[in-house]
Amino acid sequence: MPTAPVLIRLEKVNKHFGSNHVLRDVDLEVHTGETIVLLGASGSGKSTLCRCVNRLETIDSGRITLAGEPLPEEGRKLARLRARMGMVFQSFNLFSHLSVRDNLTLAPVRVGGRSRTEAAERAGELLARVGLADKADAYPAQLSGGQQQRVAIARALAMDPEVLLFDEPTSALDPEMVGEVLDVMAALAADGMTMLVVTHEMGFARRVADRVVFLDSGRITETATPDRFFDAPRTDRARDFLSKVL
Ligand code: ADP
Ligand code: MG
Repeated sequence: MPTAPVLIRLEKVNKHFGSNHVLRDVDLEVHTGETIVLLGASGSGKSTLCRCVNRLETIDSGRITLAGEPLPEEGRKLARLRARMGMVFQSFNLFSHLSVRDNLTLAPVRVGGRSRTEAAERAGELLARVGLADKADAYPAQLSGGQQQRVAIARALAMDPEVLLFDEPTSALDPEMVGEVLDVMAALAADGMTMLVVTHEMGFARRVADRVVFLDSGRITETATPDRFFDAPRTDRARDFLSKVL
């Protein structure tokens, strides 16, 4: 998707935790409508990269921009920026004391300034989109892990984000529930959502990614189409990684 505008750009991004150099001169462009799957061994920096993009972590040097604007430092501007990016984590992080509907309407009402009616209507649409139209009144504990994660995706969509960041969204799920979550993500990608996805689901990566980015000890060592990456990885480290996960 080289002609679509760049939505997220990382330029020479470096991040340390103490003496641990976790991101090394990371350059990455995510184009509007593109799905990028970020692969790499455990500890290679995938989560840190995602967390730097929505500024849950600060970077030590380099630059990250969203639609050309640098990420704001703090305060209200940062809250507005976060609203433009939806994040879905491994653990579902739903509010357990709130119904599914209220999980979806909380941020739009409190942060987005929507009316309760408007937010509830939108929540209904989003629940239908993730196949859970009948669960608006349920509480998270009454749902399976796969259903909870689909609610988390609907909640991330409720603020109409420009991009969704996924950090191993299916890693905590029982195997039989992985497919239903990946199907929702694939449908979003097909609808043109911009997505940055960390996953170990190689079938998904191959089927859905526009580009695969491989992170090795904090450095991007390969960026390729999925077919190229999976059929002919360029580096020994990528080959080694694939031999373990495929
Ligand atoms: P991945 O998601 O690819 O498994 P992470 O981004 O979680 O990798 O971690 C990259 C490196 O940074 C690891 O060495 C990890 O121990 C370290 N790290 C991650 N988060 C923190 C933190 N909050 N404090 C200190 N070290 C961290
Ligand atoms: Mg991680």
